[in-house]
Amino acid sequence: MPLLPLKELMEQCMSCTKCPLHNVRNNVVFGEGNLRSKIMFVGEGPGRDEDLQGRPFVGKAGQLLNKMLEAINLKREDVYIANIVKCRPPNNRVPLQSEVDACLPYLRNQVAIIAPKIIVCLGATAAKAIIDKDFKITAMRGQWFEKKGVKIIATYHPAALLRDPEKKYPAWEDFKSIRNELDKCNS
Ligand code: URA
Ligand code: SF4
Repeated sequence: MPLLPLKELMEQCMSCTKCPLHNVRNNVVFGEGNLRSKIMFVGEGPGRDEDLQGRPFVGKAGQLLNKMLEAINLKREDVYIANIVKCRPPNNRVPLQSEVDACLPYLRNQVAIIAPKIIVCLGATAAKAIIDKDFKITAMRGQWFEKKGVKIIATYHPAALLRDPEKKYPAWEDFKSIRNELDKCNS
């Protein structure tokens, strides 16, 4: 797929039928935020609230993400937020590899447009698609990787923090490391 400008990319994505998830979606969740942001956050895929509203991270996990962003002095409007798959998998199941493969060109194109310095993978699905197919979130979260000059880190998905509060402390360590890396980019 050749790279498209944002408007065309969004138009294509909004009417996409490249994988079966299109049959069960209410809305495509393309992603949103500051197109000039140095940092991009990538989740797994829309949940129920996101599918109904057409916006990323607007449910309970999104509210926690907003709080974590604020804790490192980032406003949600200042960053760009997207997902690996743009349509909701039934019952929030993990997207199939075939669905990830079909949808990933949209994210690649978003990354090309935004050209972030830092990408934060929220959870194992994003880390496997972006960093390494064998990524182990518990063992490898908090480590910095670099691809094509972009710094990449994975941390726990905010929904995982809601299920298991013991993950909150390591996630906070990761967010402090993200703040530190962002300060390096800004200096
Ligand atoms: N979980 C995700 O991975 N993405 C969203 O947009 C919302 C919840
Ligand atoms: Fe297209 Fe991605 Fe939606 Fe599948 S999940 S239909 S590839 S936009």
